[in-house]
Amino acid sequence: MTDSNDIANMQSDHLQRFIFDDVQVRGEWVHLNKTWQEVISRREYPAPVQRMLGEMMSAAALLAATVKMDGRLVLQTKSTGPVSVLMVECTSANTLRAFAQWDDEAILDDDAELMTLTGEGTLAITIEMNGAAKPYQGIVSLAGDSMAGLLETYFNQSEQLATRVWLSSDENVSAGLLIQQLPNAVKEDQTEQEAWSRINHLASTVTDNELLTLPAETLLRRLFHEENCRLLTVTALMFACNCSRQRVANTIGLLGEEDATALVEEQGQVEVACEFCNEHYYFDKADVAMIFAHAGSSTLFDSSTIH
Ligand SMILES: [Zn+2]
Repeated sequence: MTDSNDIANMQSDHLQRFIFDDVQVRGEWVHLNKTWQEVISRREYPAPVQRMLGEMMSAAALLAATVKMDGRLVLQTKSTGPVSVLMVECTSANTLRAFAQWDDEAILDDDAELMTLTGEGTLAITIEMNGAAKPYQGIVSLAGDSMAGLLETYFNQSEQLATRVWLSSDENVSAGLLIQQLPNAVKEDQTEQEAWSRINHLASTVTDNELLTLPAETLLRRLFHEENCRLLTVTALMFACNCSRQRVANTIGLLGEEDATALVEEQGQVEVACEFCNEHYYFDKADVAMIFAHAGSSTLFDSSTIH
């Protein structure tokens, strides 16, 4: 027996892959409920910042699902406008975390579009593979009015794959839909190009409300009922932050004993808050002394930070 609650739970915090038989097009649908609630329960965001961060969270999940990775994918904007940083991390363990930095003094319109919030800047897509010496990084200039548009630009530039993305978020849900031509689709094949246009056109009718409220199966049936759209694997996603007292201690260690001691003497204690989960860590004089008492062991101070 499944009641409606079970169905709601099954549909929440999942990424659903799908494919069209007979047509060289694949797709992904994502819905984040608890994961998104974890993010917005930890910091109070102005409405437009929250909406943009929500859209970016689904964007990261959709993007990560297109990459075979053992590691983490980070989407991060850096810009000169009132919202200076938007950052989402998605790991190969299917965990997500996110935060934004904004100017408290700025007056932001509730329905402000992307560039009004961020101003000039860039969106960086970084993929860190475990064990790889160097991360992969792609950069897209902030342009246009939506996060979805940026993601489409990224796919067109870096992968040269025709891709369309729709993103939406409210105070309950962050959701997204992606369709993409498969790499083996022949650009000159008129039938394939027509099929892409047709599926693109059908997908474009999706509304924010449909994205935010419908289960994958219902939405895909509604959008593509005359196409052979087949559901593939489902991936469960969840919020997790891997910050820890030890990692913060390592970061304090990187300050050097002199600076760290000066800081603790000046302020009575060192307070460090994790940007992602807003957990506060406190180190008093004795804690700081303890960090440097272990300084002889080289394993303590690795280059990892709370990010
Ligand atoms: Zn944290």
